Amino acid sequence: MGGNLHDHVDVIQVVDAPRLKDLFGLSPTGIARMVKGAFEWHNHRSGMLTTNFAEAGGFIKSDPAEPVPDLQLHFVVGKLVDHGRKTVFGHGYSCHVCVLRPASRGSLRLAGSDPMAAPLIDPNFLGEGADTRLLVKGFRIMRNILGQPALAGHGGRELAASATARSDEEIEQFVRNHADTIYHPVGSCRMGNGPDDVVDSQLRVHGVACLRVVDASIMPRIVGGNTNAPVIMIAEKAADMIKAASPERDRDAVHIAAPVPAPAPEVKESLGIA
Ligand SMILES: Cc1cc2nc3c(=O)[nH]c(=O)nc-3n(C[C@H](O)[C@H](O)[C@H](O)COP(=O)(O)OP(=O)(O)OC[C@H]3O[C@@H](n4cnc5c(N)ncnc54)[C@H](O)[C@@H]3O)c2cc1C
Repeated sequence: MGGNLHDHVDVIQVVDAPRLKDLFGLSPTGIARMVKGAFEWHNHRSGMLTTNFAEAGGFIKSDPAEPVPDLQLHFVVGKLVDHGRKTVFGHGYSCHVCVLRPASRGSLRLAGSDPMAAPLIDPNFLGEGADTRLLVKGFRIMRNILGQPALAGHGGRELAASATARSDEEIEQFVRNHADTIYHPVGSCRMGNGPDDVVDSQLRVHGVACLRVVDASIMPRIVGGNTNAPVIMIAEKAADMIKAASPERDRDAVHIAAPVPAPAPEVKESLGIA
């Protein structure tokens, strides 16, 4: 439980484009447009605030020989520095590139017996060299795309933090300093029948009766794309399985992978069971 944590490790290139005042940005014009957008949203449910911010994207191969895309791009209509935690002024745009099938595995562990204590989360991003090399490659491809005439014609300039990284070594350093989550953590309650797997194919926790896990954590390997729709699929499938199984049948059919220890007397007492 808690091993196999992984995510689409991601890095962002940010472009300063002062002429593009119709994009999101902190400036007198930008603020006025956002206020107008708020009224338009309130009155007509339309306008600039209907954006999902990541308005375009793409799946690309780092090499034509790859059988399927191994990198994903998300294009954002604003300057996204440090995932929005850092305030930046002016207008521009950003592009993410992420590794679709990372090799690195992190972990999620309890900090102790206090249920209110924050868990220990180690994403172990770039723990495997293959992920770092792929992200460096992806960064170069993304920079090339952003440099094409359709975008370059707007006169944008890559922010200095990444613009100064030109060699593979410099880009790797930039990636190591800035790579982060694209918010798709999965895998810490992996489905399977091996000794380290947490749930069976019905999402029942091995060795524990009447307990299922239904969320992104059961994915054995991350999907090669955004995770929201697959999680909805997992949930709908689980709902069908739960409806089909009576509680008694579910309890009888539980897959026992390890002996279940009897609860300690004080636990029994606190639960009010004999
Ligand atoms: C900022 C952000 C942007 C994203 N953008 C996209 C996107 O554009 N496209 C896409 O496909 N995916 C996107 N994702 C990923 C997607 O949202 C997740 O993969 C998906 O929601 C995971 O579903 P889940 O059920 O595993 O977890 P969650 O959706 O996180 O659900 C967990 C639920 O458990 C509840 N909960 C937590 N603790 C307790 C408790 N103790 N008791 C009771 N309830 C509790 C929470 O309130 C929450 O409702 C994004 C994620 C984030 C964070």
